Amino acid sequence: MANIGKDIRLAKEFLQKGQLVGIPTETVYGLAGNALDESAVLSIFEVKNRPSFDPLIVHTDSVEKLSGLVSDIPDAAYLLTQKFWPGPLTLLLPKKTSVPDLVTSGLDTVAVRIPDHPLTLELLRSLDFPLAAPSANPFGYISPTNPQHVDQQLGEKIPYILNGGECGIGIESTIIGFVEGIPTIYRLGGLAIEEIESVVGEVILMAHSSSNPQAPGMLKSHYAPKKPFYLTERSRFPIHEDGFGYLLFDQYIDGVDEKYQRILSPGGNLKEAAHNLFAFLRELDAQTLSQIWAEPVPAIDLGRAINDRLKRAAAED
Ligand code: AMP
Ligand code: MG
Repeated sequence: MANIGKDIRLAKEFLQKGQLVGIPTETVYGLAGNALDESAVLSIFEVKNRPSFDPLIVHTDSVEKLSGLVSDIPDAAYLLTQKFWPGPLTLLLPKKTSVPDLVTSGLDTVAVRIPDHPLTLELLRSLDFPLAAPSANPFGYISPTNPQHVDQQLGEKIPYILNGGECGIGIESTIIGFVEGIPTIYRLGGLAIEEIESVVGEVILMAHSSSNPQAPGMLKSHYAPKKPFYLTERSRFPIHEDGFGYLLFDQYIDGVDEKYQRILSPGGNLKEAAHNLFAFLRELDAQTLSQIWAEPVPAIDLGRAINDRLKRAAAED
């Protein structure tokens, strides 16, 4: 098991030696390594068992430091940084050669973000390199939202996890690229489209595809529990006596033991639902259940990102 603590100096020492550290962010926990050190980046892919065609997000602590990583910041991107950074928004920008091709899976854009977590910001400020950090889970499984989640699955493979408590938002960042200058959503996430559009006007939503080489990492099947997982309206749920598990938005189903049910937000609050999503999915996955059934949440604000994760958890390929 990894050491779990709040020692930023220790985390810094491991990172400087090219080792990997679990880091807290407001979205999910990251598996961080020196983004400019190819061998550290390679070990991120190995530890996660992540395919090399799925590019990483590079984390920094200031817009000034971006100029070492990207060759251009379009006006719309700059506006978004001013409004939403630090925060759950990742921008795809043309990369400089200083960023190893391994980080971007050979693409000419690099994904960059300033995360909003005090410990990780302090760590980033103390380093003279940025951190590549995908979610700290084995590839394809549910993302981690507390240090114990990271330890349970990757604890044997990394020396240290920086303990920043539970992730506030609990769902990955929204990813925006600029296709012929037009802001385009590559991945729904912790920053709602409505908020983004209030700053840059209407955005395009890129369709997900498991086979589109233009959009690596947009794999349909992702965030998935180990148990069979199904997404449908609650009126179509099978009610099974031997214990199916249910992931629900704001109300229990009658006639089923409450221990087999998780309510994402009793008050119907989408922020709370996003915050609970991955932890509750893990809880259901750890119970002695044979199947998990989930219902979609209202498709507005963070509800769109939640439904995206549920759909991908239920996808077969
Ligand atoms: P993760 O850090 O595990 O949430 O994954 C990062 C995701 O960012 C990848 O799976 C890709 O979908 C996306 N991404 C990173 N870099 C790029 C890029 N240059 N172009 C398109 N998508 C990217
Ligand atoms: Mg991930």
